[in-house]
Amino acid sequence: MADVDDGFSSGILTLWRCIGCGAMGNAAECSGSCDFKRNFVIDAQRHADLLEFHLNLMERSEALRRFVAELAASTEDLGRFLSASASLRGKARALAAEPPLQPRPDPAPDDERMEIWVCRCCGQVEAFRDCLGVCIRRNGDFVLSVEHDRIAREIEVMEAQVRILAAIARQVAWTSPKPGQEDAMRLALREHMAQFHATDEKKVEIDMVEIAAGISGG
Ligand SMILES: [Zn+2]
Ligand SMILES: [Zn+2]
Repeated sequence: MADVDDGFSSGILTLWRCIGCGAMGNAAECSGSCDFKRNFVIDAQRHADLLEFHLNLMERSEALRRFVAELAASTEDLGRFLSASASLRGKARALAAEPPLQPRPDPAPDDERMEIWVCRCCGQVEAFRDCLGVCIRRNGDFVLSVEHDRIAREIEVMEAQVRILAAIARQVAWTSPKPGQEDAMRLALREHMAQFHATDEKKVEIDMVEIAAGISGG
């Protein structure tokens, strides 16, 4: 039953919505007995703003990750660490000089989340309302709120990671250890990187929860 093409595979649902009463639906006709499941959707444009931010954040995170991975490979040993941090300084300065990202868009508030019922057999979507007059239908694109919330949580975790990674880059960019302090700096950076890996594991945990929810929900 899960392999019905209900439009969710692309992430975007095109639905009509009555501008008067808020009733919603799609064109699917059910051939048998419908098995409706409750979902919530939000406007796709609202989701697109969050996705764009997510994409920019991911690009920044990946550039920082590559830098930190290079640096991390050198921190086992003081001699290698000193030569690596000297040769990576230019890259660290370029990363540290990047302008801050646009403010993160807020996830859709509750009053923008619309309840719909989706048939698990045929993909028919319905949101019943008592219409007072003639329904005036407009087509629009919608996204499931669970997908929107998943992206919002990923952004939260990634922002925490980027803060840690950027702090590492700034340290390499602008700080030269005083004589005798080189090993302390190396150890402080290792500590920072351990923090980063801890938040990375948290992200994996979130992904696993999502997968488990997907299995039990389908
Ligand atoms: Zn059906
Ligand atoms: Zn209506």
